[in-house]
Parts: sequence; structure tokens; C-alpha cells
Amino acid sequence: MVKDLFLYNTLTRKKEHFEPLDPPHVGLYVCGPTVYGDPHLGHARAALTFDTLFRYLRHLGYKVRYVRNITDVGHLEDEVADEGEDRIQKKARLDQLEPMEVVQYYTNRYHQFMNMLNMLPPSIEPQASGHIIEQQLLIQQMIEKGFAYIKNGSVYFDLKKYNEQFGYGKLSGRILEDMLSNTRQLEGQDEKHFPLDFALWKKASPEHLMHWPSEWSEGFPGWHLECSAMGMKYLGERFDIHGGGMDLMFPHHECEIAQSTVITGKQHVKYWVHNNMITINGQKMSKSKNNFITLEEMFSGRHPLLEKAYSPMTVRFYMLQAHYSSPLDFSNEALKAAEQGLSRLMKGMAILPKLTPSSSSTVDVQTVVEKGYEAMGDDMNSPVLLGYIFEGVRIINLVKDGKGKINAADLDMLRHFMTTFAFDLLGLIPEDTQQSTGLLDKVIRLLLKQRQDAKARKDYAASDQIREQLTSLGIVIKDTRDGAEWELE
Ligand code: ZN
Repeated sequence: MVKDLFLYNTLTRKKEHFEPLDPPHVGLYVCGPTVYGDPHLGHARAALTFDTLFRYLRHLGYKVRYVRNITDVGHLEDEVADEGEDRIQKKARLDQLEPMEVVQYYTNRYHQFMNMLNMLPPSIEPQASGHIIEQQLLIQQMIEKGFAYIKNGSVYFDLKKYNEQFGYGKLSGRILEDMLSNTRQLEGQDEKHFPLDFALWKKASPEHLMHWPSEWSEGFPGWHLECSAMGMKYLGERFDIHGGGMDLMFPHHECEIAQSTVITGKQHVKYWVHNNMITINGQKMSKSKNNFITLEEMFSGRHPLLEKAYSPMTVRFYMLQAHYSSPLDFSNEALKAAEQGLSRLMKGMAILPKLTPSSSSTVDVQTVVEKGYEAMGDDMNSPVLLGYIFEGVRIINLVKDGKGKINAADLDMLRHFMTTFAFDLLGLIPEDTQQSTGLLDKVIRLLLKQRQDAKARKDYAASDQIREQLTSLGIVIKDTRDGAEWELE
């Protein structure tokens, strides 16, 4: 059985045989969310891509340290020009909250929805704001090595010098000179020697809320720096895999490479893996474009583009039907087809334990298993793998209907393959628990609606009674600005 893994490496533009730097250990760093809004489908796709990789690497016997950061400072509105307000701070200002309240709330929401989608938590989830000293130490080293300069309390990376020595743009294939001719001249850029130099440290303006002392100024770190600092801290100067969405390739990952190369003198990442985007009518789904469907909207059906609610496992299955490196266009048709596919798979999985073996086999399980491993090893080709899993479902149904026979060894192999691949590697949980959770949510929301109606007509006795009865069942009601929410005690 071939259990090798080939990964498409963005850096070399080739599918490469995966060989860790220090087996059996594997270091995996993934750029996590900037926590200033509810998680949407795009976040789910990035998380799923690396959840699948994490699960498969562990299945292959590697000891994986999976680091996925939380960006809670330094991500400005204009990523390329390092200009505009900090995204967290802007949200805090609009909602009249502390920036860390925004961070905590959306970090919790992110965890909650990732959990519903059955994403395994990373081994370490570091926050940028918790690693200010580490980032400052890297800035100091870059200044000492002559690749960073101080201007009016801010520190910038000297991209021209870096380009001459190391070559900038290897990952995205961008050429600095071409980029320069396309760069707009923006206000505030006169501090930079070269328009594409990027900020390592920015002096905080008086109205800026999140700032820390440093020898250069009271300020905050540039967005790209956190990933160099936290990757190095938890995975070492060189590590195996760096993941993230394709939209992060430039400038975020290019800048991380430039920083880490200057500091370590090495190529700090062996394999760069990028997932493609989810599109709506051909446009990338993103919060900054205000063109997205949140996971809460997906699971509740409350979005004008949604014809109905889709369960977390339906969403997971829908995303697995496309290869992670292909764009995936949102459509109700595809989601409904995913719902049916998932239901067919789970029906097959429910029959599997009840099948009884015969003395001989008329079905070919061996080939299905081999092809399944081949698909997974071939750059995590989940759509092809799903095809073989459905071949397994077809065999289950043939045996159940008496149209095929399976011997004990083949039945064991089939059971092992189906549970390993569908449950453990693709993370598809049986939907009955999912469905009952969804139903419970609907029933409680119905009661909350009745309570709200009672309040509206000033029937406080009725509204209090609903609350008390729910509380006695261990259901805690929380009144939020967006209406009542519930959770189990
Ligand atoms: Zn990053």
C-alpha cells in the first residue's frame, strides 16, 4: 500500500514528495484569522484545507506541531501600502468596545464555528499581541543586519537592498520593478525610501488605541512580522510546511519570507501550500470586499443568497468536493447536491456494521483502498477520494441487497477504510447528532421568539416564565445586542 504524500509547493511550482526536515516531527504553520468579524465560508475553506493535511500527516504517523495564529494587531485596512486604520481598532471604535473585547468575542466565535465544522484545534494558537517582544527582537536584528531603517519613530524593511541580495517575489512570481510601476503614490509613503518598503514597526498616532513602548516609538508591529516571529518561536528557524489562503501570497507571505531570510540566512520554509478562494458570482468572498456569507448565516439560512439552511457537515462535504487548489463557486445547487451526497454516505456508513460476511468475495475492496490512498497522497485530492468512498458505499449496498458477496477479510478492510477515510481523515461526522443539534437550536429559537413577542406586548409574566423554564432545563439565555442567544449550562 503506497502511503506517500505529494504536495504542490507554491515556491517551486511543482508537486513534490513530502519529506520532513526532522522526521518523525512535522512543523506546520498556518496563517489564522484576523478577528474583527464573524467567520465566513472563506475562513472555513482555509481551516478545512489544513485540517485535512493535519489529519493525514498524523495518520501517516508523523508527530505534527500545528501552529495557527490569531491576528489581533497590526492588520491595517490597506495591506499593500501599510495605511489606514487597524481592522480590530476600527471595529472597536464602531461598536464602542475595547479592542481586546472585539478580539475575544470573534476568537470565541471562530472557535465555536470551527468546532461545529469538526476542525481539530491546532497544537498552539498564538496571538500577535502576545508576542510583541519577540517581534521587537527581530526588528532589532534586521536593523543590525542593515535591512531595516528608522524614520520618525517607525521602522521599515529595505526591500530594494533585499531584492538585490536575495531576490524578492519568488513565491508569487512578482517582479519588483513591475510592481513598482503599478504602485500608487499614497499619503504617508514619503517616510519610505522605496514605495514598496513595508512597515516592521509603526509609530502610533495619538488616536491609535493599541500600542506598546519600544526604543523607536510608542507604536505597534507591522502585520507580516508576527508570522515570522511566531513561526520561528514555535517551529524553529526552518520548518516543514507553511499554509494559508492564496490571497495571502502577496504581500503577506512574500514579506514574511524577506524578514525570515534576513534573520536566519536560510530558506525558512520547505513547502508552501496555498488554498484557493470561495467565490460568489466569480468574485472572491472576503470581509474586506463585503462580499461574504458567514457560517452562522449558512447554518441558519439567514442570508438573501441562501435558499435554505445547510448543516455544518453539508458545508464541509461541499468544500471537500473541490480540490483545495481550485476555486469553489458558491451555489445553492452544489450545496443541495452535497446534502444528498452526505446523506447517501451516512446511510451506507450506518449499514456497514450490520453486514455479514460470506465465504467468498465478488467485490473488489483492495482496489478501492489502494486508489483511496493514492488520491489522498496526490496533493490531498479530496474530490477523487470521495469518488472511491462512494465506490465503497456502492459495495455496501450491493452486499446489503444480496447482489454481491464479501468475505470476512474484505469486510474488515472495507470497514477500516470507510471509517478511517470518511470519519477520521475527511472529518465527516454522522449527521444524526448534527441534525438533532440543529433541530434543538430551531426549537429553542422558536421559544426565544415567543419570549420576545411576549416582551413586546409587555406580557412579562409570560416572557419570564419561558426564560425560567428553559433555565430549569439547563439552557442559559443571553440577551445580546443582536437578540437573544442560548447555550447549554
Ligand atoms: Zn501570516
